[in-house]
Amino acid sequence: MKVPLLDLKCQYQRIKQDILRVTEEIYDSQYFILGPHVEALERQMADYCHTTHAVGVSSGTDALIIALMAAGISAGDIVITTPYTFFATAGSISRMGAHPCFVDIDPATYNISPEGISAAIEGMSPLERGRLKAIIPVHLYGQCADMDPILEIAGENHLTVIEDAAQAIGAEYKGRRAGEMGDFGCFSFFPSKNLGAFGDGGMVTTSSKAFHHTLVMLRNHGSHPKYYHSLIGGNFRLDALQAAIVSIKLNYLDQWTKMRQDHAATYRSLFSQGGLEDRVMLPVEKESRHTFNQYVIRVAEKRDELRAFLLESGIGTEVYYPVPLHLQRCFSFLHYREMDFPEAERAAAQTLALPVFPELTAAQQEYVVDRIKFFYA
Ligand SMILES: *Cc1c(COP(=O)(O)O)cnc(C)c1O
Repeated sequence: MKVPLLDLKCQYQRIKQDILRVTEEIYDSQYFILGPHVEALERQMADYCHTTHAVGVSSGTDALIIALMAAGISAGDIVITTPYTFFATAGSISRMGAHPCFVDIDPATYNISPEGISAAIEGMSPLERGRLKAIIPVHLYGQCADMDPILEIAGENHLTVIEDAAQAIGAEYKGRRAGEMGDFGCFSFFPSKNLGAFGDGGMVTTSSKAFHHTLVMLRNHGSHPKYYHSLIGGNFRLDALQAAIVSIKLNYLDQWTKMRQDHAATYRSLFSQGGLEDRVMLPVEKESRHTFNQYVIRVAEKRDELRAFLLESGIGTEVYYPVPLHLQRCFSFLHYREMDFPEAERAAAQTLALPVFPELTAAQQEYVVDRIKFFYA
């Protein structure tokens, strides 16, 4: 049996007619950049994320960049984030000339530890505290970071909070949505995210009128009105084709999320039969709405061998992420060392993402769990 990690073709077949119709309309109009389709998606996204504004941008990475720019982050500033995330989170901080200050994760959720943030701030010199400007919590795998203490720490220290919600559209924390809690929420429409475009795309959410105004200007070279530039922005624009496609798919998102959550429940019940409890740790659902962009198990032993065995058995898996960011060569100038963040390092060595895409079948899930049981038997 073949079980890919992700199968987008299946999803496309269901929405193909709607997509072909709207894309043809855009071809006929020859209006490609920003415009009514982007505005419609911005309205839809703001509603979905419970914010007053949303600004369509060119990718999730650019969402982070433009949020950092709007927050006024500049050379020499310090921004706290997690080392256990996709590269873009910390890469964006560095591209602003700012310094990422990494804080270890909670091993149960893989999200940044609020206690770790407090300790990091306490350990800073007065000079460093003066340079500390923002926190970027990441809602990893589709589950929100522990936002209440993070927001409290941010409030006490006058820090901007930029949620990296690239993996967490629709996720909730105590009834609040990803992207609604911080000053900014950053989303990605990379095809493998829960809401994917047919190319690159992203969105920044905010409920601040002033930030919204700045984001809209920055997205288009800081111009307002046209050809008058009071800010130095860039080309961070979303195009009409991507917006129209994402807009159609957003109507199905809750249904697809429910299917992912059902698969997570099925995995839980399959794994619970058969004595793997001490070998395979399942995802811990701390928050009420985990959207399972990834279904990540953790194994104490032989993760890479398991992965190779599953591949031979026709099962696609992935490691998110094999090297924590503080140990990436490009960040060697930050002088972090091995064992600086033991939880992130352990997670990088032990986690494995299993298929959890909406169209996955029960038979496929049974096969996956059966092969894992066979491997450890
Ligand atoms: C995917 C992702 C990004 C970047 O999004 P792109 O659209 O690929 O630029 C940023 N942060 C996290 C946590 C992601 O998973």
